[in-house]
Amino acid sequence: MGYAHYIVHRDGEQIEAGYDVQAVCEEPGCTESIDRGLAYLCGEMPGGDEYGCGGYFCGHHLFIGPNTHTGDLCVRCLKTATTTG
Ligand SMILES: [Zn+2]
Ligand SMILES: [Zn+2]
Repeated sequence: MGYAHYIVHRDGEQIEAGYDVQAVCEEPGCTESIDRGLAYLCGEMPGGDEYGCGGYFCGHHLFIGPNTHTGDLCVRCLKTATTTG
């Protein structure tokens, strides 16, 4: 299975993902160029999972999660994961 370019389902729509897909950080107001590789993913599963929203964020807007199950998280998901334990 290749990770360069694939389709994921997120919030009922299909989006292109993978490290070959150029994108912009999804944090409102941020224009940082990123790709949709796993390195920029909020959560661990493309398309979103229990902790992550499945968004893609630059290094300024993606944070190390509170535990090893969460993966890296955006600020909103980090807050949720931290407050709900
Ligand atoms: Zn998130
Ligand atoms: Zn950003």
